[in-house]
Amino acid sequence: MQALQTNTIICPQCGGENKLKPDEKFIECEFCGSAVYVDKSRVVNHYVVNSNFNQDQAVGNVKRWMAGNFHVKDLDKNAVISKVDFYYFPLWYFKLNESGTDKIMLQPASSTPISEIKSINIPAGNLVPFQVKNFDVSQFVQPDVYFESAKNWLQQSGANIENITESNLVHIPFYHVHYSFKAQHYSCLVEASSGKVYANLWPVKSEAPYRILFAVSLFVFFLTTIISYVLSVVVSESDGQIFIFAEMIKIPAYLIASIPLVGAAYLIAKKV
Ligand SMILES: [Zn+2]
Repeated sequence: MQALQTNTIICPQCGGENKLKPDEKFIECEFCGSAVYVDKSRVVNHYVVNSNFNQDQAVGNVKRWMAGNFHVKDLDKNAVISKVDFYYFPLWYFKLNESGTDKIMLQPASSTPISEIKSINIPAGNLVPFQVKNFDVSQFVQPDVYFESAKNWLQQSGANIENITESNLVHIPFYHVHYSFKAQHYSCLVEASSGKVYANLWPVKSEAPYRILFAVSLFVFFLTTIISYVLSVVVSESDGQIFIFAEMIKIPAYLIASIPLVGAAYLIAKKV
């Protein structure tokens, strides 16, 4: 990789000198045909990951994800999908060698509301050299985070940038699914090569019923303790026995008191 001088770029693959046309960002080397991306300071290999899911399949994955246990009950039935966008999103792809093992780290190369996409796993075999003729370039989000900024982020997140052995720009296909639920707007991303759903925010189960149940439980156990002591005072023949009897009554009393509380927790979990 070479620093960019005037309007000539050096192909990272074959070392060939290519003349850069104004405003041209996605370039194919005229000597070896490699796809390269020209950053302010760097020329890197440019890869793309192919999409394996159509829009209906992607929405199907979102519905299954919505039906999962972390989300509010019947979200899959009550959420209204308002818009689905398809685009290839740019990520800086760093390969680091840390004590003999390769590690891939990703940084978004454009701003995204869904930071989760940093944790995407891209099998190396899925990286295809980008070729303009195979894609609709209007679906490609242009990077606006420079290579150096991405490297700084990487360093701040604890990586030793001395260990970087390879840097690429990778465009990954996504369906951005927008939906509303109870007059609130949400969105999530479906990574279109694996079908995996990513989101930062979604309608969660309300915690209020659990908090109320917790308060009720504290009160019930407090009451059970008092009743155990009162009963113990009644049945004890000497003062020394009161504490022992109370503890003996408390254990079965707690067990009995917990039955309706567990039942209530189960009902809340089913309803909310
Ligand atoms: Zn080349």
